[in-house]
Formats: sequence, C-alpha cells, structure tokens
Amino acid sequence: MAVKTEKLLYDAIIIGGGPSGLTLSCLLGQQGLRVICLDQADPKKSSENDLRTTAISYGSRKILDQAGIWPLITEACPIDDIRILDGRSPLLLNFLSEEAGGKSFGWIVENMHLRAALTARLKALKTTEIQAPIRATDFRVEDDYAACILEDGSEIKARLLIGADGRGSFMRRWMGVDTRAWSYRQQAIVCTVAHEHPHNQAAIEHFWPSGPFAILPMSDDADGQHRSSVVFTEHGSSSRSLRARSLMALSDEAFEAALAERFPENYGDIKLISKRAAYPLGLIHAAHYTAPRMALIADAAHGIHPIAGQGLNLGFRDIAALSTLIEQALEAGEDIGGLDILQRYERARRIDNMSMIAFTDGLNRLFGNNIPPVRFLRRAGLRAVAHFPPARRFFMKRAMGDI
Ligand SMILES: Cc1cc2nc3c(=O)[nH]c(=O)nc-3n(C[C@H](O)[C@H](O)[C@H](O)COP(=O)(O)OP(=O)(O)OC[C@H]3O[C@@H](n4cnc5c(N)ncnc54)[C@H](O)[C@@H]3O)c2cc1C
Repeated sequence: MAVKTEKLLYDAIIIGGGPSGLTLSCLLGQQGLRVICLDQADPKKSSENDLRTTAISYGSRKILDQAGIWPLITEACPIDDIRILDGRSPLLLNFLSEEAGGKSFGWIVENMHLRAALTARLKALKTTEIQAPIRATDFRVEDDYAACILEDGSEIKARLLIGADGRGSFMRRWMGVDTRAWSYRQQAIVCTVAHEHPHNQAAIEHFWPSGPFAILPMSDDADGQHRSSVVFTEHGSSSRSLRARSLMALSDEAFEAALAERFPENYGDIKLISKRAAYPLGLIHAAHYTAPRMALIADAAHGIHPIAGQGLNLGFRDIAALSTLIEQALEAGEDIGGLDILQRYERARRIDNMSMIAFTDGLNRLFGNNIPPVRFLRRAGLRAVAHFPPARRFFMKRAMGDI
C-alpha cells in the first residue's frame, strides 16, 4: 500500500490497546513521553465482548498504583482465602491472607472495569493518545527511528516501537522471531454466576480429571447480589466431535446444572447471570523479545495457561521493567530505542518469564494427569506443601506476584 502521509515523530508507538499496551502507555506518558497507542479493534466492542475477570496480584497492583490507574478501578474484590482441591479428595490446601501479614493475595477485577480505568487514565495524560480501530500493517526500521505503517497508508515514526499486540502478534511475526508453542487441547469457558451466600473473598481452584474449575470472588452487584466469576476448563476441545459435546453446546439450564455440581455447598443456590465465552488454551514463548528499535511485551512475548491467573501479571512485570529502563535512559540522556536498553530489557525479563511458563505448564500437566501413581504423588505433594512452611510461603509469594 502506498504511503500517503507522514506524521510527527513520537517517542514510542505501542501496537495493541489491550491491558498491557494501555498500561505501558500510561507509565510512559507519566514520564512526559509522547506516546501513541494503536488498536485494530473497536474499544467499545472489545470491552463489551470480554466477559473475563483478571486476578491482579499484590505486585501488579503496585504497578497500577504507580501508573495512577488503580485509584480509577471502581470495583475490585480482594482475595483473602485461596483453596486448592483435587478431585473428590477431601484434602484441601488453604492459604489465608492473615498468614501473609494481613495483605490480600490479589484482587479480582472485571476486564471491562480494568479497561475503563486504563482508558480514563490514558486520556487524562497530556502526551498520550489512542487511535482505534486502526491496524498496523507494516514497519520500517532506520538507524535513529522506526516507522509503523497503518492500514490507511499513513506512516508514524518513533524512537521505539512496542508490540503489545497479543498472542498472535503481527509485530513478532514481522520481526521474524521464532516461537516455542503448543496447544493444551483445552478450552476455558468463562461466565459469571450469582449465588445465595457470600463467597467471603475466597478463590477456589478445584482440579477435576476433566480440567481445572476456578471460582473467583467478585464484588456484589448494585442490587447486593453475591457474584463470582467462573473459569471452567475442559479437555479435548480441538476435535470436532468433542466440540459438539462441549460445555459451550449445552443449554443454559444444562450448563447451570454442570456448574451447580461443581460449586461448594456453602455458596447456596447458584444462577448463571452472563453469557459464556470460550478461550482455546495454549502456550507460546518468543525466542527473542527485541530487534532494532522494537520490543515485545506481555502476551506478544509469552502467552501462558490461565491455571494460576498469572498471564497479565507476568506482562505487568515486563511493563515495569521496560518503563524503568526507559526512565533511566531518559535521565542519562540516552536514546530510548537504543540497542543497549533493548538488550537490558531482554536480559531482565527472560528468566522470570521462563520460570512462570515452566510453573504453569508443570501445574497443568501434574493436575491434568489422572494415572493413580501420579495422583497419589500429587496428593502427597499437596499434603507436604500444606504442612511445610517454606513451601507455603513459596506458593503465597507466587500468588501475590512477589516472585
Ligand atoms: C480464560 C482466561 C483467564 C485469564 N485470567 C487471568 C488472570 O486472572 N490473571 C492474569 O494475570 N491473566 C489472566 N489471563 C491472561 C490475560 O488475559 C492476558 O495475559 C492478557 O489479556 C494479555 O493482554 P495483552 O494486552 O498483552 O494482549 P491482548 O489482551 O491480547 O491485547 C492485544 C491487543 O492488540 C490488538 N492488535 C493485535 N494486532 C494488532 C495490529 N496489527 N494492529 C493494531 N492492534 C492490534 C488487539 O486488537 C488487542 O486489543 C487469562 C486469560 C484467559 C484466556
């Protein structure tokens, strides 16, 4: 497509206006950088269609606070109790926030509220702008700047281009970066449920042979109705015959009955109060996060299994690292898109990302296996964690996003 117009030089162009792209835009905007964030989707539709909630860890909350975003999130339900159950075993691994010095492990925020807070913050900053819907279709890299070519043929230039364009990242493919990727042959079905009794800020992860079933506490609605978000994972969703038998194919009544079978009794009667949305699950990790004047963040660099609710939390750690390096470069009068900064970013993030990938992949394999010896060893492991304080501390820190 012919290049029609040339626009001003920005400090950074962020491709992707999902939660990671918007958060980084706010952090860089706060530093006074001229930032433009682009998204190919209509923000209103993205918000309406995303029924998910996100478990924001204690560590991520600090980043959102620093970016001036957290105070704008109107509804966040604290997690003060984490329960892990394995099939029909009565064994329960239970962590209470009192053990963590009274600090909540995290907060459940509806994605639409997170997106609204991010957009409000971005609009309040003087040097940041968002353009959507518009797609990035090509790039051009020169010695002292890089250009992003948009679908309308216009070109915008910046010192640094940041790919926050999700798992299927166009920018990553343009960079020619290899990935390690596989499908889990599972899909996560997400919905919201109202229940008779309060959840007492408990988050439950119940591992069933058919897949993990998570109940995440939400704040009560305007009518005082108690609510929880559900992530119902099912195996084998990749073949057509299994898809037909999928939970997505059930009527609302049959699906509600499947939910009720898995809800603990103390929630009382339950009722499905939202639509259902299905997300195919897989792992993807980029072999490199950077190229001259380009950096990948969050899901564009690594997409993980939602089993521990850590995908975006990991992305927030990329964002914090890159934003700090950019701040330091500005103070030192260095080029924010220079090779040195990009290499430091890559070194700062690779090990943490690999370790979370291994942790979530391992958890999924361990709990997805129902062979009796594996089940026996797994339950012995849970018992050991329950009674071994250093192991308890390790799991609590992971949940809080401290490691
Ligand atoms: C069921 C489920 C539950 C989850 N629960 C949690 C949880 O509790 N806690 C947690 O931390 N994480 C969780 N995650 C993970 C989390 O949702 C992702 O890590 C997060 O959405 C990644 O955000 P992102 O901004 O990097 O990417 P995305 O949200 O994928 O956004 C990418 C954006 O880029 C735009 N885009 C793509 N290509 C282009 C282009 N060429 N030009 C312009 N724009 C483009 C897209 O329109 C999109 O808006 C969960 C995931 C799933 C599937």
